[in-house]
Amino acid sequence: MEIQTIGIVGAGQMGNGIAHVMALAGYDVLLTDVSADALQKAMDTIKGNLDRQVGRGKVAEADRDAAVARIITTQTLSDLGQSDLVIEAATERETVKQAIFEDLIPHLKPTTILTSNTSSISITRLASRTDRPEKFMGFHFMNPVPVMQLVELIRGIATDKETFAACRAVVDKLGKTAASAEDFPAFIVNRILMPMINEAVYTLYEGVGSVESIDSSLKLGANHPMGPLELADFIGLDTCLAIMNVLHDGLADTKYRPCPLLTKYVEAGWLGRKSQRGFYDYRGDVPVPTR
Ligand code: NAD
Repeated sequence: MEIQTIGIVGAGQMGNGIAHVMALAGYDVLLTDVSADALQKAMDTIKGNLDRQVGRGKVAEADRDAAVARIITTQTLSDLGQSDLVIEAATERETVKQAIFEDLIPHLKPTTILTSNTSSISITRLASRTDRPEKFMGFHFMNPVPVMQLVELIRGIATDKETFAACRAVVDKLGKTAASAEDFPAFIVNRILMPMINEAVYTLYEGVGSVESIDSSLKLGANHPMGPLELADFIGLDTCLAIMNVLHDGLADTKYRPCPLLTKYVEAGWLGRKSQRGFYDYRGDVPVPTR
């Protein structure tokens, strides 16, 4: 099936990045959000990020202008009715996502592929509430979308081969790399990454190392570009905790229990970079460890 028009629901951090890469690859993009402010911010972010790519010589000025012109924003969900593919990237709450699919489905073509960028909600369960579980799958981008090379493609139990192949072709056209994952809690990247971050927090909690010694150990000893605590701050400690809870609940194995220190940081509202404090304090000129 030929995909030309892509509908994106949710114009937050992920939605704007997805709109950016899709438009740059030549797709027509319909971007929707309940918030007019989010749509305005998304367009400003996309233009700013494209300008930066032009400045670095990675994107030609004409391609930037064409990409911006291919994105239409709307607060009306039904405007996405003519999309060939819909990528839902709204707030990570199952009731929100279900309500979006319920409202959108009556306006869609029977052939439209529906996908979700969820990091943790079961694709099979989301699909079962739609009229097209065989045309439903997970389309999981990494943050920041314009920079990260990987896209996880997650099959629900009912996803058919044609749907998977069509989504893979989109990833190829983006010049990104697809990793195919089955629908189990946290898929591949977060299934491996989050327990590592959680273990780094346990290492801090038990006093085995300081914030600095843990991060420099993994950077210099395992060749990771960022230390695990620095990375946790970048992702958001609330997100890390939520994913650990999904692993713990979904796999019912105590090895996934969230570290009490991670919970304590989240309770304090120290969520990492987005709240200016996490394992590091970002309020000054240089990040300072908080323990
Ligand atoms: P975000 O909070 O930045 O953006 C969510 C957007 O959804 C907001 O602009 C909000 O107004 C909008 N929204 C809420 N309800 C809506 C509705 N009914 N209709 C339309 N728009 C609605 O969140 P985000 O970080 O962009 O995450 C979006 C999705 O991507 C989540 O499912 C998340 O799990 C997933 N994800 C996030 C990351 C990450 O690192 N942030 C990485 C991969 C996947």
